[in-house]
Amino acid sequence: MRSVDEHRAAIAALVPGPRAVDVPVADALGLVLARDVPAPLSLPPFTNSAMDGYAVRASEAPAGAVLPVAFDVPAGRTDVPALAPGAACRIMTGAPVPDGADAIVPVERTDGGVERVRIDEAPEPGRYFRAAGSDIVAGDTALRGGETVRPALVGFAAALGLTTVPVLAPLHVAVLSTGSELVEPGTPLRPGQIYESNAPMLAAAIREAGATAEIVRFVADDADAFLARLAERVAAGGIDLVVTSGGVSAGAYEVVKDALADRGVEFVKVAMQPGMPQGCGTVGFDDGLRVPFVTFPGNPVSALVSFEVFLRPALRAAMGLPGRPRRSARLAEAVESIPGKRQYLRGFLRTETDGTDSVSVVGGPGSHYLRWLSRANCLMDVPAKVEKLAAGAPVDVIALDP
Ligand code: AMP
Ligand code: MG
Repeated sequence: MRSVDEHRAAIAALVPGPRAVDVPVADALGLVLARDVPAPLSLPPFTNSAMDGYAVRASEAPAGAVLPVAFDVPAGRTDVPALAPGAACRIMTGAPVPDGADAIVPVERTDGGVERVRIDEAPEPGRYFRAAGSDIVAGDTALRGGETVRPALVGFAAALGLTTVPVLAPLHVAVLSTGSELVEPGTPLRPGQIYESNAPMLAAAIREAGATAEIVRFVADDADAFLARLAERVAAGGIDLVVTSGGVSAGAYEVVKDALADRGVEFVKVAMQPGMPQGCGTVGFDDGLRVPFVTFPGNPVSALVSFEVFLRPALRAAMGLPGRPRRSARLAEAVESIPGKRQYLRGFLRTETDGTDSVSVVGGPGSHYLRWLSRANCLMDVPAKVEKLAAGAPVDVIALDP
C-alpha cells in the first residue's frame, strides 16, 4: 500500500506548474500576481481639492477678506483656467486645483457666496490639497508579484487604469462522476437510483480552492461511452486536469479502472480511511493531447476527503496560494482508529472560552454520511500507527474554512 504522502507527491508531480496569464482586473480576485507591475500613471494624476470650498491665494485671503468668485470647478472639469490674482473660485472635492491657487478654504469657513465670497478663517497654504503623485508616482512598483488580489487591490489596479493584471492562471478542472445508479437532481428517482452529488460537491471544492471547475455529464458505467465522452471534451480544449469519482474499487463494473488502467493511470491502494482506492496518471488522447487524471473513489465522504488530502494542496501550489493551515486541538472525547491506516475523521472544531481549540467527532465512520460531512468544519488527521486517543489528547486538525 502507498502512504498518503507518497500518493500526494504523485499527484503533485502530475498537476501543471504555475503559469502566468493576463486576466481582466475584475476576474483577478483571489488569484496571485505573477510579477511586479509598475504604475502607468501617478495617483492622484493631478493635484485636486480634498474639500468642497474655494481655491484662493493664501496671501490674499485673510479672515474677513471678500473675494470675487471668478468661476466654478466641479469634479470632472477638464478646462480649468488659471486663477487671476485677487480672485477665488468655487471648487468641489476631487476637482483639479487651478494654476495660481495655493490654498483651499472649506465652504464651512466662508459665507458660501456664489458671486463673491467672504473668508471667515484664513487658510493654510497647501492644506486640503491632494498632491499629484502623493499616493503613487508613475513608474514606481504598484502591484507586487506574489500578492493575492483582494478587493482593494482590484480598486487600486482600476484606479491606475489597468484593464488586465498578470496572475498565476487558475487551473481549469473537469469533473466527471461515474455510476449507473446516478440521476440528476430534478429527475424522479426509480428504485435503486440515487441523486448524483459528487460532481457538484467536487466542483464547489475546486472553486473554493481558487481554481475553475466544469462538470462533464456522464453517468452510465460503460468504459467505451466514458472514454468517448472524455475524448470529446478533451478535444474541445482548455482542460488542465480531469477528476473522476467512482469506479475505482475492487468490484465488477469499475468503469474508471476498466477504461484507464491501460491508458496511463496507475490504480493503487493508499493506507488511509476513508479513501483507500485511488488512481492518478497522464492519459493520452488523439492529436497528442495528454491530460493529467486524478481518480477518486465514489463514496461522497471518500471523494471530498481525497480532494482535501491529495488534490487541493497541488492545485493551490500551482496557483501560488497557501495550503490549509494545520493546528493541534484537544480531543473532546476518546477516539478509536484503524491501525495501519491514516484516518481522516470529520470533526467539529470550536474555540473554548479559555482560548484553546477542542474538537469532537462528527457522525460515524461510514463514507456515505453526507449530512455529517456537511456539518463538519475540520478533518482530524490521525496517524496510521495510532489505535486509540484518550479524551483530552492533542490531535492534528485541518480546518475546512472557506
Ligand atoms: P464506487 O466508488 O463507484 O464503487 O461508489 C461507491 C459508493 O459511492 C456507491 O454507494 C455509489 O453509489 C456512491 N457514489 C458513487 N458516485 C457517486 C456520486 N457521484 N454521487 C453520489 N454517490 C455516489
Ligand atoms: Mg460506481
